[in-house]
Amino acid sequence: MRKKIVAGNWKMNLDKEQAQILASEVVNMAKDELPTDVTLIMCPPSIHLSSVNGLVAPANNVFVGGQNCSDKASGAFTGEISAPMLQSYGIEYVILGHSERREYFKETHQELAAKVDISLENNLKPIFCCGEVLEEREAGKQDEVVKKQLDESLFHLTAEQFANVVIAYEPVWAIGTGKVATSEQAQAMHKAIRKMIAEKYGEEVAQSTSILYGGSCKPGNAKELFACEDVDGGLIGGASLKSRDFIDIAKAY
Ligand code: PEP
Repeated sequence: MRKKIVAGNWKMNLDKEQAQILASEVVNMAKDELPTDVTLIMCPPSIHLSSVNGLVAPANNVFVGGQNCSDKASGAFTGEISAPMLQSYGIEYVILGHSERREYFKETHQELAAKVDISLENNLKPIFCCGEVLEEREAGKQDEVVKKQLDESLFHLTAEQFANVVIAYEPVWAIGTGKVATSEQAQAMHKAIRKMIAEKYGEEVAQSTSILYGGSCKPGNAKELFACEDVDGGLIGGASLKSRDFIDIAKAY
């Protein structure tokens, strides 16, 4: 049985009070409304990680994740946050390779491979983002693009290490644009990703890897996306900033 996961990427939004209100609302609603087989993850900006983690700690199946970490453990890297720091705050997950990090911060496949390694060394589960841009989709190159992202940043892992990785397929043209992938497009890519994993690590590992869909997922379209055989949940941007929407998406399972 694969883990069903709904993760919220808050990006660079919310002040201290807003973050605490949102996290408390999500924790309370999750307790009252969510089935226990859905894992919920909130990924706030790093400055809020500690306070948000303090709110979710007692709740069942609600976790906190970082949005990024350095590929180094410590040192003279002003402004960076390390995997050992996240671990020391009891953080369980970390988003790596989000398309905004790849685009604006020029994160490379090699850097991401190092971030994946240091995350796993520090008991953080990477939520590894992959996905093609619009021109690549239009040229029919989406499978090739995603294969390269997985090959270069993840497929050096042992099967045992890989078991701790969550994949998030996020077509870049669907992120924050309101343009959601059709359920057929999502299913086709998720199935292709699972095949890539099977070819590298075998069918058993592939069948137990959670592959999330991300890109303009909302309460109104989550049910159809989550009904796809190979879609195991979602990575939610904009809609994770509203507790009602985030919980309704998670309830769409
Ligand atoms: C994201 O940033 O990971 C994302 C999926 O954003 P949105 O849901 O807003 O498209």
